[in-house]
This record gives sequence, C-alpha cells and structure tokens, in this order.
Amino acid sequence: MHEMSLCESVLQVLKTEAKRQQFHQVKTVWLEIGAMSGVEIEAMRFCFDVIVRNTLADGATLQVIEVPAEAWCLDCAQTVKIQQRYDTCPHCGSCQLQVIRGEEMRIKELEVA
Ligand SMILES: [Zn+2]
Repeated sequence: MHEMSLCESVLQVLKTEAKRQQFHQVKTVWLEIGAMSGVEIEAMRFCFDVIVRNTLADGATLQVIEVPAEAWCLDCAQTVKIQQRYDTCPHCGSCQLQVIRGEEMRIKELEVA
C-alpha cells in the first residue's frame, strides 16, 4: 500500500526531528495533504496507527489538513482553483496552467513532549 510507505517516511521525519529538537514523544501530528496528492486520507490514518506502534509516536493523533489544489493561469495571470491536474482554467478555459499546490504532503506542525 502506497500510504504505508508514506507513513514510514513521516515516522523517519519524526525520528530525525526528535534528535534535532530533543523531544521524546510525539502527541499530535498535523499533516497537510494536497487534494491532488493521490493520498487516501482514511488509509493514511489506518497506516499511521500501525506504523507508529511502539515508537516515539505511539498513540499519537494524526490531524489531516486538506490542501485545495491551485494553479497559475498564464493567460489570466492569476491563481485559480482546480480539481485535478489536467483541468482547464475555470475563468478562461486555458490549458496553460501551472500547478502551484495540492500535489504535496508535508508535516505542518508537531505537538511533542
Ligand atoms: Zn485563465
């Protein structure tokens, strides 16, 4: 499962941060997930609980923040909201769109002890 390896990389980040910032326990993880990232949020929650068992994040809460997808329209010269990668501009119908955000997944914040 795709989400399983994503959760493993999240855990790696937590471990690295724990060393750097010298905390021993993670209580909450706020994770930003882009609308076009292809990440299944429910699967992510399930995998997270499994992966963090017996680690510094055992029992931690996963808070998911869904990030809407946005692109820059070259023709309108403005940021527009899109639903998926190959959408056209909702204002002018142009396909000259550059995706700005909505494809990424990142840790936004941690609550630690
Ligand atoms: Zn446009």
